[in-house]
Amino acid sequence: MIPEISQKSLALKGHLDDFMDEYIYPNEARFYRESEDLGPWKVQPVVEELKAKARAEGLWNLFLPESDRGAGLTNLEYAPLCEVMGRSHLAPEVFNCSAPDTGNMEVLERFGTEEHKKLWLEPLLNGEIRSSFAMTEPAVASSDARNIESAIVRDGDGYVINGHKWYTTGATDPRCKVIIFMGKSDPNAETYRQQSMILVPKDTPGVMVTRSLPVFGFYGVPDRAAEVVFENVRVPASNMLLGEGRGFEIAQARLGPGRIHHCMRLIGLAERTLEKMVARANDRVAFGRMLSEQSVTRERIAESRIMIEQARLLTLRAAHMMDTVGNKKAKAEIAMIKVAVPQMACKVVDWAIQLFGGGGTSNDFGLAAGYATARLLRLADGPDEVHRDQIARLEYKRQTTRNDTGAALDWGPALSNAALGAGSA
Ligand SMILES: Cc1cc2nc3c(=O)[nH]c(=O)nc-3n(C[C@H](O)[C@H](O)[C@H](O)COP(=O)(O)OP(=O)(O)OC[C@H]3O[C@@H](n4cnc5c(N)ncnc54)[C@H](O)[C@@H]3O)c2cc1C
Repeated sequence: MIPEISQKSLALKGHLDDFMDEYIYPNEARFYRESEDLGPWKVQPVVEELKAKARAEGLWNLFLPESDRGAGLTNLEYAPLCEVMGRSHLAPEVFNCSAPDTGNMEVLERFGTEEHKKLWLEPLLNGEIRSSFAMTEPAVASSDARNIESAIVRDGDGYVINGHKWYTTGATDPRCKVIIFMGKSDPNAETYRQQSMILVPKDTPGVMVTRSLPVFGFYGVPDRAAEVVFENVRVPASNMLLGEGRGFEIAQARLGPGRIHHCMRLIGLAERTLEKMVARANDRVAFGRMLSEQSVTRERIAESRIMIEQARLLTLRAAHMMDTVGNKKAKAEIAMIKVAVPQMACKVVDWAIQLFGGGGTSNDFGLAAGYATARLLRLADGPDEVHRDQIARLEYKRQTTRNDTGAALDWGPALSNAALGAGSA
């Protein structure tokens, strides 16, 4: 069962809706234009302008469950707000609620020392800097995090880091000042104690952002993906997060709220896309009939509505379970939405592109970038197959446990890049 959304959340949603109407939607064309003109190595001025307005209105760090620093919302309360932000590529960052910063802030909040928090968490919360998460490597199948090969080697009072990463979202952004880096600190340790996570200031000598990677030909929006080489990068030992060999432990904890934000946002993207479809269908005549009167259009609009509602309910259920029984017990539900929601969004946007005809493949209607967003999330947060594999494993275990003892279930450890929620968009 999913309880009603609280009044606090609904009030914030009303405020957010107003802000979207007044500032976000009217500035989207400017945002896409600036993104295209300036490219992924620069900051779009419209983002910084609107951030100041959002913060002044208290629409800031809404994702953060801690009430002293953020809005103090549960996952269930945050879901409708995150959905609203997902309606526009411009919105999440304006409210300081965008990936990969949200997941990185969560890590710093939970595992950072007081010094880490002062140096990195505070400026991130203030929207003064941005961050990256560097795990995926071109040389190995990184959906299996055990494969990560980069080296983090202790040397005196510091660590020396060597590695080749790619799809490090945000690294080309000049505001990106810190990278959470994952690598092997002890290749001989027990499998789940081999990896560590360490903080690397981006301006450390040896950190080289070698190129920006396009996502379906888009640079910057919907993702500032980048290739980054780390060559003899030396950082103080105090930059280690939680301790050597505890990378997987952080990964487990990163099974937190940040991991389901993508799903919440995609529901907003699909909802807005459906609105565009209806408007277009009611405005266009082909072969003597409105597109809206064609049965194929009606069919697709009806299917889209059904699929969006299903996806939303599943997502709210996962959020509610995370709030009530904890992230670990909600693991299956989290994996389910990571498969179901991007697939739903891909389908809805694909139908919209078809309805819009040739123009659907341009970005004049936000559909091409919308499709890229939905499609990349079938990979970036761990490939669909890996989530399905996990769901099947949990299901086997659930049934076996039920058959053997009828006892309460422990879903066991998460082993994959999917568990880290590495990707971002
Ligand atoms: C736009 C974008 C942004 C990203 N941002 C980040 C980021 O900020 N930081 C970061 O570290 N990474 C990021 N990623 C990387 C992302 O997390 C990885 O691409 C993903 O985990 C898959 O790893 P891989 O690319 O090495 O694919 P591989 O591991 O080589 O997998 C390739 C394919 O093999 C198949 N496969 C894998 N495992 C199984 C299985 N168990 N069963 C069946 N089939 C399987 C799947 O079809 C999978 O797609 C991003 C990716 C994208 C596209």
